[in-house]
Amino acid sequence: MFLVMLGAPGAGKGTQAKYLQADLGIPQVSTGDMLRAARKEGTELGERVQAVMDAGQLVSDEIILDLIRHRVAQPDASNGAIFDGFPRTLAQAEALGALDGVEISGVLLIDVPDDFIVDRLSGRRTCRQCGTMSHVSYAPTSVEGVCDVCGGETYQRADDNEESIRKRMVEYREKTEPLVKYYSEKGVLRKIDGVGEVADVTSRLRAALEQRS
Ligand code: ADP
Ligand code: ZN
Repeated sequence: MFLVMLGAPGAGKGTQAKYLQADLGIPQVSTGDMLRAARKEGTELGERVQAVMDAGQLVSDEIILDLIRHRVAQPDASNGAIFDGFPRTLAQAEALGALDGVEISGVLLIDVPDDFIVDRLSGRRTCRQCGTMSHVSYAPTSVEGVCDVCGGETYQRADDNEESIRKRMVEYREKTEPLVKYYSEKGVLRKIDGVGEVADVTSRLRAALEQRS
């Protein structure tokens, strides 16, 4: 089963995809995480995408599709995957639809009003070690700066600052939001209310997935 998590930055795609992957037994495939891993490793790709990412702009379709083609060829993704942060443009969606062996069975749109987004992202912290996300006000770690899950150090992503957040919202409106119409015309879109407790949103997503099958 191949699923797509769709939604504005800060809608909670990554947080929710992490829960769903355990439920469904298919891996989360986050292009954002893959790009950040490349940067951390200091690869040539990592260096190429650094400035674009930190400014809140989209990385080129060519780079992203290259990453995805390699990722879906890995054995753990042979039965399915949860795409998180991909596709982000119509060109990416079309390329995904043309990939051999990848049939999209559902697109989960996590709906969160703009007003929430800057607040959510500017207070967001990410664990350097395991990627778990927390929030300084809404979901603080027990000890400041220390991940509750693995004890790793938490940090603020370079693109989680107000200027880059605004840019990411504009990029989303212009380039990614057209995918809502695209997938709804294909009859695979489910819209889920993304406001509220993380666990409540997870329940809504599970309910939407059960309805679908
Ligand atoms: P967010 O938390 O805003 O949803 P991600 O962690 O998914 O962000 O991605 C962070 C950044 O990585 C994006 O702002 C963009 O620069 C780049 N990126 C990730 N996925 C894609 C993609 N599918 N297409 C283009 N750029 C991407
Ligand atoms: Zn951690």
